[in-house]
Amino acid sequence: MQQLKIGDVTITSIVERDGPWRKPEAMFPAYDATTAEKHLETLDAVVLDRATGMMNITYQTFVMRTPHHTILVDTCTGEDKGYPAPMDFPKRRWLEEFKAAGLSFDAIDYVFCTHLHIDHCGWNTVLRNGRWVPTFPNAKYVFHKREYAAWEEASNRGENPPGNVWRFNCEPIVEAGQALLVDDDYTLDDTVWLTPTPGHAPCHCCVNIKSGGQRAVVTGDLMHHALQVREPDWYTIFDWDAKQGIESRRRFLGEVAGTGTFILPIHFPNPTVGLVEPMGATFDYKFVR
Ligand SMILES: [Zn+2]
Repeated sequence: MQQLKIGDVTITSIVERDGPWRKPEAMFPAYDATTAEKHLETLDAVVLDRATGMMNITYQTFVMRTPHHTILVDTCTGEDKGYPAPMDFPKRRWLEEFKAAGLSFDAIDYVFCTHLHIDHCGWNTVLRNGRWVPTFPNAKYVFHKREYAAWEEASNRGENPPGNVWRFNCEPIVEAGQALLVDDDYTLDDTVWLTPTPGHAPCHCCVNIKSGGQRAVVTGDLMHHALQVREPDWYTIFDWDAKQGIESRRRFLGEVAGTGTFILPIHFPNPTVGLVEPMGATFDYKFVR
């Protein structure tokens, strides 16, 4: 997906990396080969790299231009963080796509993070004169207050993950006075608002967009792969609370199925955007081209 129009809102994808990443059996503890193969026969071919058996996984930021604001949703892994491989993605592609979208750091009004994992808050900060400072000097950064607190606690306990993720990408934003620490029901205006979808992370949220009678939702990591739309019970090895994640996924998919709501999952490969449709007891994901 390069661009999507939702009424008066234009949504653009800024990609950090894409391509084959991880085998589904290494991601989903409930994986079962027969079930997976059955789904993969009828899911869009972009979801799997047949040569390696790996899922195609993209890391991207969405830019939303509304009539009032320029907003980033999720900021990939960023630069200079010193993360070990494989999370040490080259920085150039993201920067070039950001520039090609006609953006500059000072033009961003809001940064939303669906959750505060390593690959969703990286570009929040940049290293300047040995200090982590907000990348976007004029932006307010919207963090769920209990998501922020959970990672602060984990960081203070010395857990890894999060390692340095909270200290490098989140704490400096609060110290700079640019954070909005919000609740589940945060509403920016009549176009953009949050809904809680906890489980993958303590207070994971989706970002909703409504304009001109159309709707879209940035779903963060509510699902990492289209297999989880067919099998919502397939939690991942990275989930904070797998049971809660399953409940959030099932509830969300049930709410949007058949409604024409455009879905924007951060990690789904190009063209990324799709529609959820009912499919027996579960759901299907139809990429929109
Ligand atoms: Zn992620």
